Amino acid sequence: MRKPIIAGNWKMNKTVDESISLANGLKRALFSIENVEIVLCPSFTSLGELVDVVSGSNISLGAQNMYWEPEGAFTGEISSKMIKSIGCKYVIIGHSERRAYFGETDQTVNKKVKAAIKDGLLPIMCVGEKLEERERGKTFDIVSRHVEKGLDGVSESDAVKVVIAYEPVWAIGTGRNATPEQAEEVHDFIRKILRKKYGETPAENIRIQYGGSVKPENIEQLMAEKDIDGALVGGASLKEESFIDIVKKSSVVLKEK
Ligand code: PEP
Repeated sequence: MRKPIIAGNWKMNKTVDESISLANGLKRALFSIENVEIVLCPSFTSLGELVDVVSGSNISLGAQNMYWEPEGAFTGEISSKMIKSIGCKYVIIGHSERRAYFGETDQTVNKKVKAAIKDGLLPIMCVGEKLEERERGKTFDIVSRHVEKGLDGVSESDAVKVVIAYEPVWAIGTGRNATPEQAEEVHDFIRKILRKKYGETPAENIRIQYGGSVKPENIEQLMAEKDIDGALVGGASLKEESFIDIVKKSSVVLKEK
């Protein structure tokens, strides 16, 4: 049985004080939610403070990126070992913004996934096609490449620690979400890849989140789909009310799923 996961990707937003205030509001409003795993991914500068804020609550923390080497002369980088040491549970890897603006490739994603797992972090590995790739009928080729290469050399027992976030690039920050049917079609496809690679039980246990313009108005329909195990939320996770609404509505849908 997969426990769905709703993660807020705050991207490059919020000062430390603003982050503390938002996290406190979420903690107060969401303390009774048990059937959804709640994760906040603030910027590196806020992570340390938020560890104290969410301590003892039902909220976990994740970083938005990492480097695969444990330490060394890599100015500006932060390792999975460092992220783990401050008390984070998750790390987002291969977000499309990092692939587009910071040169991330399937190979660097794969190195990061392996290093994160080795250091005890759970990777949220992002995959997904661009608009022109969808329009050229390449969605399944791209998603399959992202999944296969991202998980290359990852064993069955480690693969179940990975959360896959299907994030069609054309839906990120655009206000245009994939329809529940479009998302489910790709999630089902990803689960088939996992089944072929790892077998039935691991494939059934690996969580696949949807990301791309998730908001209170569309979360229920998305969460009702069989293979959608949560959401990676960008813009709507920056507003207290909308993130609370997304988590609470997911929780209700799950009780009926
Ligand atoms: C994201 O950044 O992962 C994302 C899905 O953003 P948004 O919800 O704003 O589309």
